[in-house]
Amino acid sequence: MPATVVVGTQWGDEGKGKLTDLMAKDVRLVVRYQGGHNAGHTIVVDGETFVLQLVPSGVLYSHTTPIIGNGVVVDPAVLLEECGMLERRGIDTSRLVVSGNAHLIMPYHYELDKMTERYLGHNKLGTTKRGIGPAYADKAARIGLRAQDLLDPKIFRQKLDVVLREKNAILSRVYNRLPLDADDIADLYLGDLAPKLAPMLGDSVALVHEALSAGEQVMLEGAQATFLDVDHGTYPYVTSSNPTAGGACVGTGIGPRDIDRVVGIVKAYTTRVGSGPFPTEADGETADVLVERGHEYGTNTGRRRRPGWLDLVMIRQAVRLNSISELALTKLDVLSEFDTIKVCVAYEAAGARYEHMPYHQSVLHDVTPVYEELPGWRSDLKGATSAAQLPGAARAYVDLVAAQAGVPVTFASVGPGREQYVSFAP
Ligand code: GDP
Repeated sequence: MPATVVVGTQWGDEGKGKLTDLMAKDVRLVVRYQGGHNAGHTIVVDGETFVLQLVPSGVLYSHTTPIIGNGVVVDPAVLLEECGMLERRGIDTSRLVVSGNAHLIMPYHYELDKMTERYLGHNKLGTTKRGIGPAYADKAARIGLRAQDLLDPKIFRQKLDVVLREKNAILSRVYNRLPLDADDIADLYLGDLAPKLAPMLGDSVALVHEALSAGEQVMLEGAQATFLDVDHGTYPYVTSSNPTAGGACVGTGIGPRDIDRVVGIVKAYTTRVGSGPFPTEADGETADVLVERGHEYGTNTGRRRRPGWLDLVMIRQAVRLNSISELALTKLDVLSEFDTIKVCVAYEAAGARYEHMPYHQSVLHDVTPVYEELPGWRSDLKGATSAAQLPGAARAYVDLVAAQAGVPVTFASVGPGREQYVSFAP
């Protein structure tokens, strides 16, 4: 059976955690394919909130095997801490498998992340300073350490010594920081972390292919989202990996023909964290309502997210970039507060109308959104469990999204809880 990809269509925080958790109830394997612990999926089960940074959401079901794919960058200490937290709350993490090809986040990655952000001054990217970007940079530069290196202390030490010479030179001579000690790092990674991580390491590629061959359901879960993609996002305000569906192939070890379903997660409005262009950004009372009703504060950082109306030009582009087959709309309940709701259906700039993303980002900075205004529904959606229970105006909103995006909306989430959703699937 081919795999399903779940991908965010905006700038992240669309509520992917809830969707992947819901979908995981029917699948055998859930694979995270990129990112690191800069992601933060929130899943609410029976009123209990779980925040997962690295472990795929499938961990909450005893029938799924959660896999951290080769495309992910892993801080072993953070991963072990997250597993410990889950275990203490009664969740069995023993099925978790970490790809031996996943790259490790090392202490110098944190240092460099902090320093480069500081040097960029007001051009800073707004990274989470968790070493993710520098770890991916080392992977591309072919000086990264991989999870499998933890199983071979000699290789680990050799690679560490070589790379640390360069990192320490940069830290001390460029950034005026104290150099890091190779013995300390080796003690921590090889002495303390490797024995604990070793039982989790495995051949994730083989596991995925065995499941696909056996006709089992495999779900590929991205972190961040389409417009944070290093190739297709609003560069440089992006992440260092490829959250788009193509990244799911690379980060898991399958080919495009192994995927037959791509579910795009669309928040009913838009948010973004940190810097970068944002055509439909709202201010004043609209912004406050979206942030407060939607609890739009970073899961990991507590930072207030920048809010705005739904931008269907972005969603159309996301459909193209990911070959999305269906959309899942989240946080529809947050819009219940408004008398009228705006939706951006095109952009205008210098007398031209754009139905699709302008290829030149300078244009994106200057566009004016073309809005359609829809009547609000002004009623609580949280109890709705079927399409028939949605007010007509909410249904019209869902229909507009589907018509403008060119793919069906099969699901609408109306609250954070696992059971708070409406399915439009035939
Ligand atoms: P992710 O990174 O895409 O998984 O998104 P986050 O987990 O950071 O953000 C989703 C937040 O919205 C979490 O706090 C969820 O519990 C919450 N959430 C998810 N779906 C809904 C919904 O339909 N309505 C409301 N009000 N909250 C939701």
